[in-house]
Amino acid sequence: MSGLHLKDLTATYGASQALFGVDLDIAEGEVVALMGRNGMGKTTTVKAICRMIPSGGTLTFAEADLHALPSHRVARLGIGLVPEGRRCFRDLTVEENLVAAARPGDWTRDRVTAMFPRLGERLTQRAASLSGGEQQMLAIGRALMTNPRLLILDEATEGLAPIVRQEIWSAIRSLKDKTRLSILLIDKSIRELASVSDRAVILERGRTVWSGAMADLGTDISERYVGV
Ligand code: ATP
Repeated sequence: MSGLHLKDLTATYGASQALFGVDLDIAEGEVVALMGRNGMGKTTTVKAICRMIPSGGTLTFAEADLHALPSHRVARLGIGLVPEGRRCFRDLTVEENLVAAARPGDWTRDRVTAMFPRLGERLTQRAASLSGGEQQMLAIGRALMTNPRLLILDEATEGLAPIVRQEIWSAIRSLKDKTRLSILLIDKSIRELASVSDRAVILERGRTVWSGAMADLGTDISERYVGV
């Protein structure tokens, strides 16, 4: 299977176990929402995929066993992460941030700035002086510059003004419509998640408790596990 495949994934923080059996599959070109209340293991799942914490069970991407790889090799395999908290190099300019992330492929500085024109207007500005929304666009741009096959967005719209959130959602929609990128989304806006995702996977206490087509996610399930 060419995409991402997690089966019975477990993960620990030191002596404390946080994941107890996460099942999650993303095929090429698919958009999957990872859902669940606070503290249920969404970010921990992302950290395990990116090999930032010890994990067990099945974890494969593009048929490679991620458990056999150190974290820097995960990015090279084609997994681009936009972590919680919009990380970029604050002392570098927008352009330097983008160029530093670049790997060969279709995504170039010009393609990123066509998607986020605000970044194009601020290429020589230091990242630290950008607004929160612009920093988030830069974090997404940096991940795209690595030319990933799977893009993971962990709370990419968190804390942003509604108008900026809309810009990020429309960028995600255009990635879905115009590329073959697989996307894993974590976000608090259930409405936006539902409108862009093909499938949903719901976690409760570190376990997958529901997965299926977004269209089949009824209000009974969302009330029970997501709280809406
Ligand atoms: P949120 O929406 O609040 O970010 P989440 O679903 O992403 O929630 P996680 O951050 O993955 O949840 O947390 C899952 C569990 O792991 C929680 O019980 C949390 O307390 C625990 N946990 C998270 N980070 C650490 C850490 N660095 N050390 C120890 N335990 C942690």
